[in-house]
Amino acid sequence: MPVTLNTSDADFEARFADMLSAKREDSADVNDVVAGIIADLRAGGDRVLCELTARFDRLELTPERLRFSPEEIAAEVARVSPEDRAALALAAERIRAYHARQMPEDASWTDPDGATLGWRWTPVSAAGLYVPGGQAAYPSSVLMNAIPARVAGVGRLVVCVPTPGGVVNPLVLLAAELAGVDEIYRVGGAQAIAAMAYGTASIAPVDKITGPGNAYVAAAKRQVFGRVGIDMIAGPSEVLVIAEGAQDPDWLALDLLAQAEHDADAQSILITTDPALAHAVAGAVDRILPTLPRAEIAGASWRDYGTIIIARDLDEAAALSNRIAPEHLELCVDDPEALAAKCLHAGAIFLGAHTPEAVGDYVSGPNHVLPTARSARFSSGLSVLDFLKRTTLARLSPGALAAIGPAAMRLAASEGLQAHGASVEARLALLNERGAE
Ligand code: NAD
Repeated sequence: MPVTLNTSDADFEARFADMLSAKREDSADVNDVVAGIIADLRAGGDRVLCELTARFDRLELTPERLRFSPEEIAAEVARVSPEDRAALALAAERIRAYHARQMPEDASWTDPDGATLGWRWTPVSAAGLYVPGGQAAYPSSVLMNAIPARVAGVGRLVVCVPTPGGVVNPLVLLAAELAGVDEIYRVGGAQAIAAMAYGTASIAPVDKITGPGNAYVAAAKRQVFGRVGIDMIAGPSEVLVIAEGAQDPDWLALDLLAQAEHDADAQSILITTDPALAHAVAGAVDRILPTLPRAEIAGASWRDYGTIIIARDLDEAAALSNRIAPEHLELCVDDPEALAAKCLHAGAIFLGAHTPEAVGDYVSGPNHVLPTARSARFSSGLSVLDFLKRTTLARLSPGALAAIGPAAMRLAASEGLQAHGASVEARLALLNERGAE
């Protein structure tokens, strides 16, 4: 049974605080193992990559076979059914169209002092996308990571995906093809992250690494950060559904279960103003759960982390949502836009009863790589901006330097940086001489 809380209860604050602070992530400490793998990889390159792939993925490779050949990709992709291909192509097109609108503009202007200022966006040269493959395959993750990179103009796109026992998911390869990936390597875990960060004889290093993965992948991304950029460290997934009025309890139950079936550590929360609806949804979950192939995973998530909260009104629901800062927020209410305006911290908002979160996982267009564990308070989902850098630009006319240079000299003096001040003063002295001539 999930926890049921009522904001009118005297102990609500304490129980809500417990829910917020509950740690859902596997606490197994993998940092030392990962540090060892990274050090070995840096020393041994391709040889270590092959050894670790044999050990962890039960796949014997030689350096020449680390990368998928064009013939292998073509043969695998040919196995995809026309229906799956059409669905993936639709998803790819919608994700591309959405992310194309995210491209930011360069800027340039001349201010009243005569300084021409601005900024310019340029893509990272090479990006590495980690696609998990230990226990399941995620073609949608390929699209969600690779397409924003391509839209941003990244020159070289690399994918690393483990293929345990040599088993490949052809949809992963097709997704990579549709997204315009340049190189695909059949390696996974911390060693794949280290190979992309430091490079080996077969894999040239990249500048930015994105993509989800298990605890080893997450620890490796943390440890290579600085050498390369990373997107974020994603924790277990979560959804918050806010519902009122005449909603179909089965629809809401399915949305909660859709999140729960991701992972036993996933969290599904319902906030409603209607106790009868809360009761009906809980009943629908109990009825539908045993029918799911992933009932064991979804059941564990719902039992350990599922939560139903009865709120007095939607304003209170919005305030609770802001404290939870959910990764996914579904607003199944009569006026979802009005409620969305009050929900300030969420990775992605799904407005109205006909926008189940699952469409956002695949085809609506926005990215499904989103901030988890309340980090939506200060961060955003993956976007083209993650693959761009902003370079600032400044060009001063002699008049502009004369106007603002003396202030720079004063500030340099106050910081004790003599060469700073002198670099301005030398130019101003020449300008003064010329002015006096
Ligand atoms: P994975 O590809 O992340 O990990 C497999 C690799 O882990 C193996 O290749 C191996 O190198 C390494 N590994 C396994 N055991 C090891 C050990 N004992 N020591 C050192 N390395 C070891 O695949 P996975 O395990 O299936 O995990 C995928 C994760 O990604 C899941 O937690 C899933 O929920 C998550 N995921 C998240 C999103 C998202 O958008 N947030 C999307 C897809 C998947």
